[in-house]
Amino acid sequence: MSSEVEKVNCFIIGSGPAGYTAAIYASRAGLKPLMYQGLQPGGQLTITTEVENYPGYPNGIQGPEMMEDFKKQAERFGADIRWGIATSVDFSVFPRKIITEDNKTILADTVIIATGASAKWLGIASEEKFNGFGVSACAVCDGFFFKGQDVAIVGAGDTAAEEASYLSKLCRKVYMIVRRDEMRASKTMQTRVENTPNIEILYNHSTVEILGDKSVNSVKVLNNKSNEESILNVSGFFVAIGHTPNSGIFKDFLEMDENGYIKTIPGSSKTNVEGVFACGDVQDHIYRQAVTAAGSGCMAALDAERYLAAKGIH
Ligand code: NDP
Repeated sequence: MSSEVEKVNCFIIGSGPAGYTAAIYASRAGLKPLMYQGLQPGGQLTITTEVENYPGYPNGIQGPEMMEDFKKQAERFGADIRWGIATSVDFSVFPRKIITEDNKTILADTVIIATGASAKWLGIASEEKFNGFGVSACAVCDGFFFKGQDVAIVGAGDTAAEEASYLSKLCRKVYMIVRRDEMRASKTMQTRVENTPNIEILYNHSTVEILGDKSVNSVKVLNNKSNEESILNVSGFFVAIGHTPNSGIFKDFLEMDENGYIKTIPGSSKTNVEGVFACGDVQDHIYRQAVTAAGSGCMAALDAERYLAAKGIH
């Protein structure tokens, strides 16, 4: 068992827009941040195709390419970016202690958590096959590509209702696939989707298969009551059945809401533990955009820098 110990000013966990932006700011401020990229280097954007809503890219950019640009920008200022996974933490000690998957101990004066959230998927094979080719877990990101077309969205919570509503303004028709005979979304959201003429709610339906050639052209659904299958002719299939924040390893130390999102002090990235900051989707279930994540990553680096300065550490 390795007993290697490394001491850093600033340790960043996670490498989506939030983590990389934190790395850019922290390295430019001279904090010499060390980043462990996590299970999915580049984060959720690496599983999308075109990103058209990130300011500064007038012609759009591929998600993975954009994350590569973020990484290069952080490295240009000296951020030490490594592939690696944090497996446990001890925030009861100072400096804060992080254990990595190769059994290394990182001691950090400040920790920036940017571990993101993972979209939940239905788990059917065709969903994976067409991911990025008609299948998406983010209507705000990808709805535009289906302008004037017919789409389907699965889910019945606030996200699904909100995204169905968003899609209804862009698309010709939106089928909302709801597995039970009622929705979980708030009454206001339910009323909104029920009263939107181009949204058709299919209660008691589940998704059997997503069909297509190179991209989606239809979805086979099953009426759970009558056991009848039918085909929806759609070119887009949105999955909105919830997200899971990647916050499990922090649960013994950080305050979280009932869904596991890390709580930060409003207007800051501060958690309940001094010197530990959270940014991006692991603390935001509402906006979930690359640009808002990047903004909160900047906040976390500035908060870390100010914390170290106040402590006289840096
Ligand atoms: P939720 O967990 O609230 O809802 C998930 C929905 O997906 C449920 O309706 C669930 O169905 C359905 N679902 C889960 N698994 C499957 C499956 N395998 N097949 C079909 N359907 C499935 O997630 P949300 O992302 O909607 O919301 C997360 C939290 O964020 C909530 O607290 C929500 O209120 C909040 N939120 C608030 C917003 C706002 O206030 N503006 C906007 C967005 C989210 P079932 O009901 O049958 O379990």
